[in-house]
Amino acid sequence: MVFEELAELAGQRNAIDGRIVELVAELDRDDLCGMTGARSVAAVVAWKLGTSPSNANTISAVAHRLSEFPRCTQGMLEGRLSLDQVGVIAQRAADGSDEHYAQLATVATVGQLRTAIKLEPRPDGASRPEPQRAITNTSGEDTTTWKITLPHSEAATFDAALQSHHDALVADWKRDHDADSADNAPPLPNTVDAFMSLVEAGWDTDVARRPHGQRTTVVVHLDVEKHTGQLHLGPLLSDGDRQYLTCDATCEAWFERDGQPIGASRTTRTINRRLRRALEHRDTTCAVPGCSATRGLHAHHIQHWENGGPTELHNLVLLCPYHHRAHHHGDITITGPAHQLTVTDSDGDPLSSRSLARPPHHPPPTVPPCPGPTGERADWKWYQPFQPKAPPEN
Ligand SMILES: [Zn+2]
Ligand SMILES: [Zn+2]
Repeated sequence: MVFEELAELAGQRNAIDGRIVELVAELDRDDLCGMTGARSVAAVVAWKLGTSPSNANTISAVAHRLSEFPRCTQGMLEGRLSLDQVGVIAQRAADGSDEHYAQLATVATVGQLRTAIKLEPRPDGASRPEPQRAITNTSGEDTTTWKITLPHSEAATFDAALQSHHDALVADWKRDHDADSADNAPPLPNTVDAFMSLVEAGWDTDVARRPHGQRTTVVVHLDVEKHTGQLHLGPLLSDGDRQYLTCDATCEAWFERDGQPIGASRTTRTINRRLRRALEHRDTTCAVPGCSATRGLHAHHIQHWENGGPTELHNLVLLCPYHHRAHHHGDITITGPAHQLTVTDSDGDPLSSRSLARPPHHPPPTVPPCPGPTGERADWKWYQPFQPKAPPEN
């Protein structure tokens, strides 16, 4: 009977997903994904399991809140609850709701769980005074953190602009990456990507309005003798940042000796249009195995021009900005020549775009069949939403 076998397989699959989630939680906790050169836990999961980004997001969401939802996870391990059910809970449900939803999930479908979670009262900050508008930033060793405070009306405009750029980036991403293919693609563009896209769009409009129409770029001052780089009016750059910024001609480099400019840019490192076309013809995507990004690729010098690497086809590969940065930060290594490229992670293991899937050596987990939730028509009138405990009053 088909349904009996389906129930048996569903139980086994739930138990297997439960174990996968436990293992991914270990990756998450020990921060192990950094060494694979991938951007996030979800990216590692998508790549290593050969699964879609959305499935990988679900797995990593559950893994991330594993300790908060012990009953739900146990339900998966025992074959009773599915990854998608627990995924909906882990992505949205309030703290402390493990018992409530573990119970509900035994009868509720994924859609019904979503509805139930939407019914949770959300805390609103209505009682707090309106904050002052402000932009502040603080610089750390490697990053600068901006804090932008806007009243709700302006925040809404900002939000809408950010959302529109995010939607456009996601549409591009979907065009470039098959959502169902197993790849080490950069994960879906996030809000930071949308923010940078917004800034660049504003900048481009500004340039178009000016008479000479030259694109303003990041300016880097390079000391030719000391091999140091400094952002214009900004901090001294690390070796990795300097080489990253000057690898592709994406920034304007001023060469200096004893603080005196001796020339801007160097013709040998700029990539002319013909060379760029030839590169794009050869490398249609980012050269890192499994990454199929096609947007905003940088031309990377395999041997940096600072060290005498020529700006020629055999010494250049196209990389997406994410993997380009990862390389110059030492998270992955890329060795050439371009036609025999080797990409390794921080342990020196070669990266490949294959998934880890192989025929099983162990018998399937022995769990009872899972007939799935009853999925009866839910009568929301009688449903008691999860009530988060009120925070202690001070
Ligand atoms: Zn580079
Ligand atoms: Zn890439």
